[in-house]
Amino acid sequence: MRATRAIIHLDILRNNLKAIRSVIGNRKMCVSVKADAYGHGAVECAKAAVECGADFLAVACVSEGEELRRAGIDKPILLLSLCIVEEMDSLIQNRLTPLVFSEPYIRELEKAAERNGVRLCVHLAVDTGMGRIGCLSTEAAQIAERIAHSAHLTLGGMCTHFAAADSTSEEDRAYTNQQIAAFNDAVNAVRRAGIDPGIVHSSSSGALLDKEEARFDMVRPGIIAYGYYPGDITEAYLLRKGTSVHLEPVMSLETRIVAIRHFSAGMSISYGHTWTAEKDTDIGVLPIGYADGLFRRFAKDGDFTVAVNGKAYPVRGRICMDQCMIDLGTNSGVRLYDTAVIFGSTASGALQSAQDIADKTGTISYEITSAITKRVPRVFI
Ligand SMILES: *Cc1c(COP(=O)(O)O)cnc(C)c1O
Repeated sequence: MRATRAIIHLDILRNNLKAIRSVIGNRKMCVSVKADAYGHGAVECAKAAVECGADFLAVACVSEGEELRRAGIDKPILLLSLCIVEEMDSLIQNRLTPLVFSEPYIRELEKAAERNGVRLCVHLAVDTGMGRIGCLSTEAAQIAERIAHSAHLTLGGMCTHFAAADSTSEEDRAYTNQQIAAFNDAVNAVRRAGIDPGIVHSSSSGALLDKEEARFDMVRPGIIAYGYYPGDITEAYLLRKGTSVHLEPVMSLETRIVAIRHFSAGMSISYGHTWTAEKDTDIGVLPIGYADGLFRRFAKDGDFTVAVNGKAYPVRGRICMDQCMIDLGTNSGVRLYDTAVIFGSTASGALQSAQDIADKTGTISYEITSAITKRVPRVFI
């Protein structure tokens, strides 16, 4: 196995899931394992989630659901994004539960259910302000009736998704509260029409931690299972609020130093020779680059470091597709094949988390971990 690897600490994942469980009581838990569990490995993470009492799993595309079924996972699987007609037989054969709202999509799913001789359970998605998928809250009752009267579909649930529940600004709080109100209106309208809305759910990680009134029958955590706090809903914020939840990053990304070269003053590093040694120094070569998910932009400002034996060393010059170089200085004591930790929990020897990298590079932890590419082996411990 190559030096570069993503260590997936399943014990930490289990602890995070237990922490989530302690917050949500006996509500159902639908763990998001889309995008290969945010880069952590969908099958292994889904199995751990099921062991920890996940009632549902969530994926973004039919092939992701199929992967879980092939691995023998038997729990209900929500399909959070829309698929195309060509995928619908597979959706049904893999017993996925789609989110629905539009008439053409509902009609095609009905045909697919009929073709496959099954009754398909669907959840009605309501767009209360995310502006992505879902019907308007004023349309929910009518569509719920449409589904309830279908010979091939069953209404198993009703859901919405918040646009800004990970923000603590006054404006965003008001926006989320409006979304909750619109969702309550939709659910009540369905009930008034004499239809059971099934499992009512709305909260991904941000709202799960911050909006007790939006937990309904089921919550849909993703990023917090992998150990990152969503947006402004940080550990410190929750501590101040008196609802603290301790999470640890599940993934640590590491590699090994495969060469140590002595550079004399004046020698340059990497494409564009953007960095030149001002004095003699030792340079370590790491077999990791942007094709592994270590983006070029990380090192753009010259302050990106990796940890070796508990000390931070800066990446020098541009990150290449498959390699990058770190400045060890002189007499570092670092030896050939020592481990370099790019990010992870402090227990894994990292000096920064994917969250720290995200903060520094203007993105979110989700993007950092889900961008770790396929050629980086996931090692489950
Ligand atoms: C991705 C997703 C989630 C999980 O979101 P996190 O922020 O990772 O908790 C929940 N619901 C929907 C609809 C999603 O798309």
